[in-house]
Amino acid sequence: MFKKKRHLLPILLATFVSLQLFGQGTSKVINDITQLNPIKVNAIISPESTQEIIDAVKTHNGPVSVGGGRFSMGGQTATEQALQIDMRSFDSIIFFSKENKEITVQAGITWRKIQEFVDPYNLSVKIMQTYANFTVGGSLSVNVHGRYIGGGPIVLSVKEIKIILANGDLITASPTENKDVFYGAIGGYGGLGVIVQATLFLTDNDKVERTDKVLLIKEYKQFFVDNIRSDSLVVFHNADIYPNRYKKVREISYRKTPRAVTVSYRLKPHDKKYRFNKFAFKVVSEFPAGKWLRQHFMEPFLYMGKPVEWRNYEASYNVLELEPKSREKSTYVLQEYFVPIEKFDAFYPLMSCILRKNNVNVINISIRHAKQDPGTMLAWARTEVFAFVLYYKQGTTQANKEEVKKWTQQLIDASISCEGTYYLPYQIHATNEQFLKAYLNADNFFKLKKQLDPTNKFRNKLWDTYYK
Ligand SMILES: Cc1cc2nc3c(=O)[nH]c(=O)nc-3n(C[C@H](O)[C@H](O)[C@H](O)COP(=O)(O)OP(=O)(O)OC[C@H]3O[C@@H](n4cnc5c(N)ncnc54)[C@H](O)[C@@H]3O)c2cc1C
Repeated sequence: MFKKKRHLLPILLATFVSLQLFGQGTSKVINDITQLNPIKVNAIISPESTQEIIDAVKTHNGPVSVGGGRFSMGGQTATEQALQIDMRSFDSIIFFSKENKEITVQAGITWRKIQEFVDPYNLSVKIMQTYANFTVGGSLSVNVHGRYIGGGPIVLSVKEIKIILANGDLITASPTENKDVFYGAIGGYGGLGVIVQATLFLTDNDKVERTDKVLLIKEYKQFFVDNIRSDSLVVFHNADIYPNRYKKVREISYRKTPRAVTVSYRLKPHDKKYRFNKFAFKVVSEFPAGKWLRQHFMEPFLYMGKPVEWRNYEASYNVLELEPKSREKSTYVLQEYFVPIEKFDAFYPLMSCILRKNNVNVINISIRHAKQDPGTMLAWARTEVFAFVLYYKQGTTQANKEEVKKWTQQLIDASISCEGTYYLPYQIHATNEQFLKAYLNADNFFKLKKQLDPTNKFRNKLWDTYYK
């Protein structure tokens, strides 16, 4: 196993950031980045070995919940009176092969730590989110995606996992061994067990050149089909829809290039303060002409030139850039909807109409693309899909939460009417009926849960809501 290097400064900094972001301190209240979901648990443990996790699962009588980076936004990592297994100290690299482009890690490791390890070998994580703060276990349990073209749900980049079941058994699961556990636990939100280890496929850390173009949203789907989907050089791609008119998008693509890098950093520097980014989010969400300024002033400036950077640089964003001074009265939140690519033109008018009618303070909607899921039970990409990642600001009062619930349910209905789904790591506003319509295979997941976890040990707010 690769030895852990523990330096005091990063540990102090991480503790400080956790206290700031999650308000945990010495209390047993678990919260997430939005600060909307405080949950009082019974105890929190931070294991550093597999045996500690096995012992905790075997000996604890009440509910057990699992926490990774705690960036999910609806209590997916906890439930009242649970024992919380905080995986963040379980973060070693176990095995690495440069030749096979594979890495085996403990599940509490963050993408950033993996990037720091593989970058000197000029390798990259194959599929991950835009930001690098998330843990591997949390990302697998959500079955995340990124901005990769030719990528899709992260399950496509997983060779195998090791998971501790409710009876304390440690088993290996892969597309060929304990297949049902593999396709249940990936995207299973901690409902089947604790993922302790994962072997992931890596890829080359290519140099990529950024280009961008503003176009009408009605032109986007054809643009994507003609220029992006079939271009094997495209590594990252997304298109941002400009609120509040929702008529124009800026597509942003990063293609492999032989050109020399113009950004010398290999990873985003640790010590960045993100003052400009934080101010820009404030302007867009709070200033009367903020959204206009973003579209016509900030972004034309931001997207000047065609920089060339390393793939790892573009994959190492830090969520700190989004963090406001306070989340007490208002907070930034995410939602996401997935529709089959042929339904793009049907879905976006429904979505913009709902957002406009409800005066939602939308900061951005990022369009992404994902390949079809290979068979996870709670797949959000039942076919090839476009994802609409909605980033907005909401108030924190009960009335604000009710308002958000109302229009969220409308958006979920709109997505379902287009044969689509919505994403589960965010606020739990969907009715049981909506959940079952969006996740058509949920019954099979529940059957597997009943078989593997007959006493319903592995619990959190998501499964408390939908697992009856
Ligand atoms: C700013 C921001 C940007 C985001 N961007 C993207 C994006 O680009 N693409 C995308 O797909 N998602 C995105 N997300 C959502 C994000 O991927 C999920 O919230 C993900 O869960 C975060 O990982 P985490 O380590 O914080 O997991 P957590 O929130 O800690 O956990 C998520 C779920 O996984 C379970 N879990 C955690 N670890 C384990 C384990 N070891 N074993 C079993 N179960 C476990 C938890 O119980 C919980 O149910 C974004 C979120 C934020 C806040």
